[in-house]
Amino acid sequence: MGLEKYRQKRKFDKTPEPAGGAGSGEGNRFVVQKHQASHLHYDFRLEIEGVLKSWAVPKGVPDVSGVRRLAVQTEDHPVEYIDFAGTIPEGEYGAGTVEIWDKGTFRLDNKSPEGLEFSLNGEKLSGAYVLIHTDGKNWLLIKRKEKP
Ligand code: MN
Repeated sequence: MGLEKYRQKRKFDKTPEPAGGAGSGEGNRFVVQKHQASHLHYDFRLEIEGVLKSWAVPKGVPDVSGVRRLAVQTEDHPVEYIDFAGTIPEGEYGAGTVEIWDKGTFRLDNKSPEGLEFSLNGEKLSGAYVLIHTDGKNWLLIKRKEKP
């Protein structure tokens, strides 16, 4: 996907968000940003192939196994966004406040056309998760049952 969409949507002389550089190699960080925009949602981002693959999760990332949450894929974000917290001014794309709700590292266990399997190691979230691609931009984010 790259960062073209991300940059097209924003005016970097107006928003405090990072424009982003070329991206770095293989990181394994994740972040959940609580975004109080016109509608509250949680942005879930995984560092994959030099960008942050991103999903907006209206009800937040589940911490109980078996709970399914809609996750709408959004444009790739630059890796620098992982530390972003602040206020996007009124009138700008995504206007509202962004705070870091959780962060940590993840291990990618499987990647296929159907989705992603990964394990999170954050301050709030931990354990095995799947993101299943349903259709278009829609995915389901599910915490898996703990292995006995
Ligand atoms: Mn958002």
